[in-house]
Amino acid sequence: MLFALLFVILGFFLMEISGWFIHKYIMHGLLWRIHRTHHQRSKGAFELNDIFSLLFGSVSIILMVLGFEQLDYRFWMGLGITIYGAGYFVLHDVLIHRRGKWMKRPNRNSFFRGIFKAHQAHHANNKKKGTEAFGLLLVPLKYFKEGKK
Ligand SMILES: [Zn+2]
Ligand SMILES: [Zn+2]
Repeated sequence: MLFALLFVILGFFLMEISGWFIHKYIMHGLLWRIHRTHHQRSKGAFELNDIFSLLFGSVSIILMVLGFEQLDYRFWMGLGITIYGAGYFVLHDVLIHRRGKWMKRPNRNSFFRGIFKAHQAHHANNKKKGTEAFGLLLVPLKYFKEGKK
């Protein structure tokens, strides 16, 4: 059981870490034309940038299918990525960007306020270059300090 839990946690954190690199160097690089639709979003329900969520979602499904019979590390890492994806959707899409109005922002929660401030800073100029705070959870500590105020 500990084995399973470790791989779930590994899958979760690998997503945040690889997501940071992909966001900084690929989405704000070669694939900016796609990611731009998130920074300059229109009023539609979907944005082209959602393609990245589908891509990450496919990775988790493939891992879980491959590891399903033996319930090996692939299944548990896939599960960790799925949990990350669901958490990302709630935090980033629902609570931060208000896609769907079914939840209120937990404004008294200092952890959420730190995450929120960091992501606002990421969206401050909405340009390809000169942007900061590329992670969702891994953000400069100063935002959590600001969030405490
Ligand atoms: Zn971005
Ligand atoms: Zn955003």
